[in-house]
Amino acid sequence: MIQKPKGTKDILPGNSYKWAYVEEKAKEILENYGFKEIRVPVFEQTELFERGVGDTTDVVQKEMYTFLDKGERSITLRPEGTAGVVRAYLENGMASLPSPIKMWYMMPMYRYENVQKGRYREFRQIGAEIIGSASYKADVELIVMADQMIKKFNIPGVTLNINSIGCPVCRAKYQEALKAFIGKNLEQYCDTCKTRFEKNPMRILDCKEKKCKELNQGAPVILDYLCEECSTHFENVKKSLETLNIPYKIDSGIVRGLDYYTKTVFEFVSETEGYTVLGGGRYDELVEELGGQKTPAIGFAMGEDRLIDIFEKYNKSEEIEPKVPDLYIASIGNIAEETAINLALGLRKQGLYIETDICERSMKASLKYADKTNSKYLLVIGEDEVNTQNAKIKDMKTGEEKEIKLDVDEIIKNIK
Ligand code: ATP
Ligand code: MG
Repeated sequence: MIQKPKGTKDILPGNSYKWAYVEEKAKEILENYGFKEIRVPVFEQTELFERGVGDTTDVVQKEMYTFLDKGERSITLRPEGTAGVVRAYLENGMASLPSPIKMWYMMPMYRYENVQKGRYREFRQIGAEIIGSASYKADVELIVMADQMIKKFNIPGVTLNINSIGCPVCRAKYQEALKAFIGKNLEQYCDTCKTRFEKNPMRILDCKEKKCKELNQGAPVILDYLCEECSTHFENVKKSLETLNIPYKIDSGIVRGLDYYTKTVFEFVSETEGYTVLGGGRYDELVEELGGQKTPAIGFAMGEDRLIDIFEKYNKSEEIEPKVPDLYIASIGNIAEETAINLALGLRKQGLYIETDICERSMKASLKYADKTNSKYLLVIGEDEVNTQNAKIKDMKTGEEKEIKLDVDEIIKNIK
């Protein structure tokens, strides 16, 4: 039998209602903050991610699904959402619309990863972007919204970690100090880190290799090098979070996996699972990097697969349950079947969830199936019922039966 590719998953009917629930609730929150949906292509020109995400990042160096199409163009399956969203923003002239532009997306992403718990090759992200505000207030609004989303899904043990990674001005000085520190032991770092030393030493702080992590202990922290503007920005973010009673920790180790970040970066980390559920930050250089005017922006992406894994673990008897039929209509004989089909049609048009037999089952088998579907009510129609236009409707929970007219309105009245 052919199997699905490694690192992908099938979201089956017995589970998909949970995904629908999470997406619906997330969408409600996003739209209440004024974010509008954007959908961009699954594949883009490879150059977009090389320039946008950064060619010294793990994503670009190791994880992209890149191939030549039949026209010899280099194409990449999107590994993240922001680069495509910013490309669409520029390509469609959205820069001339009233700013800020607030957009959300729910899209599958593709990364050639080492498959393990919480790390897949196809995974889904729910993301939000604010393009066109330099104010710390945008950072705060976005973090507060992310916090609200995490809380909505009732998952315990998640902490908000924040950091500032400054702007190109403060980073220049910091990188000197960092290079001096790393340079002492450079030959002990992994090969990838060595290649990053000249071009982007901060990337070395994000290396997942155990050895490199150890060597990074005691490295200078960017917070000590922030320029006046970046420092004030960060202080304002912290102050606002405190005013809003949103607990956070400073984690000077967060540099984030994508190159475009500046100033505020943040992660919502699940302490129980040991991974990040939601990550984001400011990216004031990206719009310009992709050919637009310099435009400040900030965004986040939540890992939906990770969220659902935790959600399932801690929400066993949740308010959310798969939908069950309002009514199962069983029938015997041709005329009764016709009546059953007509009633089902009329009731479905009124928005009810109705099941009938489509396997030509015997009455006995049909009743057994009705039970398996967990239908709330059962209606049995035979020749007598068609003749009298009366039938018994049974409440499957209480076992109570009631004689009613075979009529759409009458049925609706009796099953609500
Ligand atoms: P990590 O450090 O865990 O590799 P990242 O920095 O690569 O994360 P982002 O690119 O910022 O992650 O993506 C945002 C979120 O998307 C992550 O916090 C995580 O929840 C989710 N995510 C990223 N990669 C994967 C993956 N391979 N499988 C499942 N979820 C993922
Ligand atoms: Mg990663």
